[in-house]
Amino acid sequence: MLLEIRNLHVTYGNVKALHGIDLTVEQGEIVTILGANGAGKSTTLMSISGLVKAAQGTISYKDKELTTLRAHNIVKQGISQVPEGRRIFGTLTVQENLNLGAFTLTDKEKIAKNQEWIFSLFPRLHERRQQLAGTLSGGEQQMLAIARALMGSPELLLLDEPSLGLAPILVKSIFATIREINKSGVTILLVEQNARAALKLADRGYVLEVGRIVLEGKAQDLLENREISKAYLGGA
Ligand code: ATP
Repeated sequence: MLLEIRNLHVTYGNVKALHGIDLTVEQGEIVTILGANGAGKSTTLMSISGLVKAAQGTISYKDKELTTLRAHNIVKQGISQVPEGRRIFGTLTVQENLNLGAFTLTDKEKIAKNQEWIFSLFPRLHERRQQLAGTLSGGEQQMLAIARALMGSPELLLLDEPSLGLAPILVKSIFATIREINKSGVTILLVEQNARAALKLADRGYVLEVGRIVLEGKAQDLLENREISKAYLGGA
């Protein structure tokens, strides 16, 4: 098992966001977390990357406990998060944003290789590498946020709502790119509101409702599940 979350509880003041969730991710998988607004999806990702602290429970990555590590040390273990809302540095250029993503690496050759790969995934970013990131379109900013996370050679990529606010054609293209990233060996944990597209892409899925996992299974089975269809896929 690459990632194993057991009995994770998270609270914000007196708001309980997660009530003891269990979730696993195996090497090479795409796993998706579905759920309505406020279900605790982002909180789950932020707990893994150390941006919020667990009140109880364990998160182990390659058998190493993460809950006691600081966020920058978690990145060094091989985990990168692409946060919801992109959070790129708008006053820096595309290239400068990418350079920041490589902060854990010292091997210049490796950095150059990563960059070459990233520009082949996102040729648009290559064209715009001297442009200020704040002047990119929404879709380009999302590409940059993913590209920046990939600069650090993550083994596990945490993606929070990558399709949020994008036009349908760009949504398709972002999902296709996520598949390509996964094929190149990066394991992916994906939070999405776009449940159908996420389940089509993923191997397995979890459904979160107000801080609890209410359903989990193979993505294909979840796609065919009536309750899921009613609640998340707009089906009858
Ligand atoms: P969304 O899709 O809207 O981002 P989500 O499933 O990612 O939803 P979270 O953002 O993880 O949900 O939020 C889970 C719960 O924790 C919600 O009730 C939310 O209001 C609460 N919460 C999240 N962040 C904070 C915070 N910083 N302070 C207080 N409560 C918070």
